[in-house]
Amino acid sequence: QAKHLGKAKWCMFDDELEQRAQARLDIQEELQRAIDRNELRIHFQPIVDATTHKTVACETLLRWQHPERGLVYPGEFIEHAEENGLITRMGEWVIRAALAEATRLPEHVRICVNISPLQVHSASLASTIVNAIAASNMDPSRLELEITETALMSNTEFTLRRLHQLRSLGVRIALDDFGTGFSSLNHLRSFPFDRIKIDRTFVSDIETRADSQAITKSMVSLARSLGMQCTAEGVETSLQAEYLSKLGCEELQGYFFSHAHPLEQLGHLVQLQKASVAPPLQILEAGA
Ligand code: C2E
Ligand code: MG
Ligand code: MG
Ligand code: MG
Repeated sequence: QAKHLGKAKWCMFDDELEQRAQARLDIQEELQRAIDRNELRIHFQPIVDATTHKTVACETLLRWQHPERGLVYPGEFIEHAEENGLITRMGEWVIRAALAEATRLPEHVRICVNISPLQVHSASLASTIVNAIAASNMDPSRLELEITETALMSNTEFTLRRLHQLRSLGVRIALDDFGTGFSSLNHLRSFPFDRIKIDRTFVSDIETRADSQAITKSMVSLARSLGMQCTAEGVETSLQAEYLSKLGCEELQGYFFSHAHPLEQLGHLVQLQKASVAPPLQILEAGA
């Protein structure tokens, strides 16, 4: 009888696996269509100077305007796009669209774009960046690529060479979600990042947990002694902002200052210029 039960269990397991595999295929098909039908959007979240609270950069955050489900956040689809390699195409769209839209931001505002670990390995990343920078006619140093530690975990030698190659284009490179990956300190030693972004898990506990305070404090001073700048993510209260600013963290980002919005809704936080470059629709088609 036990054997019988065991078999029933396995059948259920098989079913579930099959369903999951089907769901995965479905979402991958849908993602492909999202790109083809131009359903991807970019929202911009301001990053402010810790002392003046003026906007000094904007992080571009990918959204999927789904015809039935509404606005879908990256947590629900990036992983799938990474699984089937679509992330490379998607990420190239993001770079082109972000830089085209960013021509409406004032010149002193940096554009921070998230780059998937898989994209770092793609041979076309550098040329996509060079072309997008040329098309928007911007100073390459205004572009900051945000890379997480996961990108550095596999094939390290190769990845490091890639990062140096990207850097030689004049763009800046930030280590995103700092403190949540593995062997962070070794990464800081092997690659000269321009900036580290302190993950919001440390920031959210800063008022209540002495250990989070201690860790954040060391991160800021570590960045300083290595000649890197520091941005704190997930700042939601004025106390957090004040604390981080006192520590010497140069830039702050979080809901306390602003959520991510379509560029045209950021007018109250940054002085937007007139649109001078074609909107992402045309860019997608030109690049596809
Ligand atoms: P991330 O790069 O660490 O981006 C910050 C995330 O934290 C964003 O979530 C942002 O909306 C959220 N956030 C900002 N301020 C606060 C705050 O004060 N409190 C809280 N609780 N959250 C805050 P989002 O937009 O859902 O993006 C999640 C992640 O998806 C990003 O994390 C990034 O890793 C990835 N992602 C977003 N856009 C892209 C993209 O274009 N390409 C790639 N490869 N990944 C992307
Ligand atoms: Mg980021
Ligand atoms: Mg981050
Ligand atoms: Mg994060």
